[in-house]
Amino acid sequence: MSTEQPKENRSFAPSPEALGAQTAMAAADVKGLVAAAVKEAVAGVFSQLGPLLESMAITPEKLREANKPYKDPAVIARELREMLIWKEDEAEARRQTEERQNACPHIDNNGRSSVQLVHNFPDRQPRGICAKCHAYIHPREWRIGAPDAKHPRGVPFLVEPHRHYQIVMQLESQN
Ligand SMILES: [Zn+2]
Repeated sequence: MSTEQPKENRSFAPSPEALGAQTAMAAADVKGLVAAAVKEAVAGVFSQLGPLLESMAITPEKLREANKPYKDPAVIARELREMLIWKEDEAEARRQTEERQNACPHIDNNGRSSVQLVHNFPDRQPRGICAKCHAYIHPREWRIGAPDAKHPRGVPFLVEPHRHYQIVMQLESQN
């Protein structure tokens, strides 16, 4: 019995060759499993990182934003204030000019008209410019405003005649 057991055991025990083959197979299995596990782990990591990487991707907008120099909010506020004052000053100056031109009799020191006639306009209507107040005395005329999406060459609009256009018409009829 004691002599048989090792025999029986030996029959179950793998030969060195078989053992070697088994080890190789096991190693291959482990290798495959590890490879699969790593692949899965990497895929998992990337599926999590995906949105992050996408959000980190450089777009033209982000590049533009990143290249903007820092501007102190206080500086922006001051610039806005100054622009507001500048606009108010501009409006006030425009109002004063209008007032002066409306009050001007367009008569020079010798009692003659200070309005100079200007011709050669495409609509063939004369205009006048007062030498004293520099008023531009125009008829009803078309002007071109700032362009918009529909009018890339500017928005045409009709302007009512200058309130003193009568003077130009009188001078024109005298000539
Ligand atoms: Zn005038």
